[in-house]
Amino acid sequence: MEASLLRERYQAARDALQRASEGLYAPPRIIAVTKTHTVQEIWPLFDLGLTAIGENRAQEVMQKWPELREKFQFHCIGRLQTNKVKYIIDKVCMIQSLDRMSLAQEIDRQAQRAGLVMPVLVQISPAGEAQKGGMPPETVRAFLNEVRRMPGLHVEGLMAVMPNTPDRAYLDALFGQMRTLFEQLREEALDGVDMRELSMGMSGDYELAARHGATMVRLGSALLGARDYDVNK
Ligand SMILES: *Cc1c(COP(=O)(O)O)cnc(C)c1O
Repeated sequence: MEASLLRERYQAARDALQRASEGLYAPPRIIAVTKTHTVQEIWPLFDLGLTAIGENRAQEVMQKWPELREKFQFHCIGRLQTNKVKYIIDKVCMIQSLDRMSLAQEIDRQAQRAGLVMPVLVQISPAGEAQKGGMPPETVRAFLNEVRRMPGLHVEGLMAVMPNTPDRAYLDALFGQMRTLFEQLREEALDGVDMRELSMGMSGDYELAARHGATMVRLGSALLGARDYDVNK
């Protein structure tokens, strides 16, 4: 892709985020979702200051990390198998897709082994779509109560993947529910839990997410162009 096209797309996304959040929230930070893209395609992001990248497969993190590690920070955003945690624990700066206790336990174990504390976001399933990962909102408190005691990880907020639907009113309601849950948990101020990041919004719905106070949006095709993929596959 031409650098000028990437720059245009980036500017357009930034402007749209700015407009959508205006007067309500600070504009969210952009995580560039680079899954399926090559290292050569990823490099130009650096010149735009887009150094936080999202990958959803451990295998791709392992392949790209050696070349990109000095300039980019990797966020794990996809469904993570417990047996893959050990390969990425020292390569990613955040695991955004923590959605079950067995995964929390394995992150805790591997992080302690590696001598680090892994920042994590708890993935919520706002529409109850189990196949996309994420836990039902009503179970998050009990979950936080357990994981907040784990020395190898630190909860820094929530993440959500919205359903793929053209129904803007429905999406608007779901983003609103996520923001409400985020603020409630922030007010509850559980010991050992921070609620500072709310990662929601992708290429098709990032403006709605910004309007509801996302602190991070995860943009793949809006920046790097369309690719044939399913979320979390
Ligand atoms: C692929 C993916 C994205 C980005 O999707 P786009 O629609 O291309 O912006 C964001 N979040 C997750 C979890 C993904 O798997």
